[in-house]
Amino acid sequence: MRRITLSNGKIVEVQCLSCALTGGLIEPDGGVVLETEYFHAHQDVAYPIKGLIILASKRHIKCLDELTEEEKLDYIKVLTKIRKAQRDTLGIESVYYFYNEDTTHHFHTWMVPRYEWMYEFGRSVESVRPALLHARHEMNNAKNIKEVMDAIDALKNELNK
Ligand SMILES: [Zn+2]
Repeated sequence: MRRITLSNGKIVEVQCLSCALTGGLIEPDGGVVLETEYFHAHQDVAYPIKGLIILASKRHIKCLDELTEEEKLDYIKVLTKIRKAQRDTLGIESVYYFYNEDTTHHFHTWMVPRYEWMYEFGRSVESVRPALLHARHEMNNAKNIKEVMDAIDALKNELNK
């Protein structure tokens, strides 16, 4: 079991954070952005970046090659749908995608929008971690959190209409 401190200060004990989120045990701040039979999309607001979405499988698996045929199809469809919504509602021109198979959670893909301010941390993938940490430590203010929440609502509306 892992102890996880939620953004509201509450501490929960879970086997796997992704299971807790996709199973509805923990409600992500801002709510569920999109849910399908096999996948669950939400924002981790611990990284307050507008339009940053985490797409997690509902099944507790670690690796891409564990996806079933149905899950594979759903994955690329959902990923594409969210990508288009990021462009159409938030004007996001570029997105970085990454997932790691040695996660302590389970299969989830980060969709990190690339913004101008991130160039301060470098040109490409090496800037992702510093940019995420910058957001967590320096952008955790009421004004930016409001923008992040508004972006979540805009994506939700677009994706569930
Ligand atoms: Zn899990």
